[in-house]
Amino acid sequence: MPHDARAVTALRRIAFLLELAQEPTHRVRAFRRAADVVSALTADELEWRIREGSLQQLPGIGAVTALAIIEAQRGEAPGYLRRLESTEGRSVADHAATLRAALRGDCHTHSDWSDGGSSILEMAEAARSLGHEYVALTDHSPRLTVAGGLSRERLRQQLEEVRRLNLRPAPFRILTGIEVDINEDGSLDQEDGLLDRLDIVVASVHSKLRMPREQMTERMMTAVANPLTNVLGHCTGRIIVGRGRPPSEFDAETVFEACRRFDVAVEINSRPERLDPPKRLLRLAVEAGCRFAIDTDAHAPGQLDWQMVGCERAAACGVAADTVINTLSATNLVAWADRA
Ligand SMILES: [Zn+2]
Ligand SMILES: [Zn+2]
Repeated sequence: MPHDARAVTALRRIAFLLELAQEPTHRVRAFRRAADVVSALTADELEWRIREGSLQQLPGIGAVTALAIIEAQRGEAPGYLRRLESTEGRSVADHAATLRAALRGDCHTHSDWSDGGSSILEMAEAARSLGHEYVALTDHSPRLTVAGGLSRERLRQQLEEVRRLNLRPAPFRILTGIEVDINEDGSLDQEDGLLDRLDIVVASVHSKLRMPREQMTERMMTAVANPLTNVLGHCTGRIIVGRGRPPSEFDAETVFEACRRFDVAVEINSRPERLDPPKRLLRLAVEAGCRFAIDTDAHAPGQLDWQMVGCERAAACGVAADTVINTLSATNLVAWADRA
């Protein structure tokens, strides 16, 4: 009978934070494995092993994990966990919670009009129940056929649908938008006139992610310099689960400098398989003075709650709330995006 020992919670939390910090997989696994071992014990056996000092006789429990278990069962926060949770005396968790509380919406989500699993209304209601004031609907553009990218005609229909849904009397707004593909030459995969009608334009690279560094830099710079672009989506395109996908190569300093100059927000993508940009790049973007969008890229209602992951990464990299565009009200966000 599994039990919810404090040690299990602490070990899993450590694994989670190590993952967030992009520590090597084997370290993360060591803590997850230890959590599994402890949760398979009865409460009595756990207590007895702590008393006898025999935790390390269990497979998968070493000196470090044993100490964390003992501390957690004593009711203390394990030293290992405390070190992970604070940087330079300031708690990352506190900063992350402050950021999360400041967020008023999400700028990157998908519905079943492209490759999402739920209707626009379901996504909007889930966003609202999380306390959001708005959600931007950013389905894919035509070239991403595998993800059901919207043709011009479909996008026009969607705009009509959103207009209709926004007639509902609620202090909540669905913002129109798109996750538009950045073509190989840096142009955007939708008509300018149509992009201009949208509240928010997220531009992302989805094809030819392995192009040479110089070409990729040029491609991204062209998209960032486009006055219709508001947010640079998941900038490296990396995938960190399963077989994974390495990050694209580009001159990040140059691209982030362009983001700052053209006032394009760098997305902090909260999807667990993306966590993009990596922290090293995120810190670079902070230093460059960029704005950010902490987005979920949700393809289903439950995924809208992933924002906290992005907040933790943002906090760990020193992103200030007033540089995050989705701390703005819907009106101010749309006004910012409409500067073109
Ligand atoms: Zn994307
Ligand atoms: Zn997306």
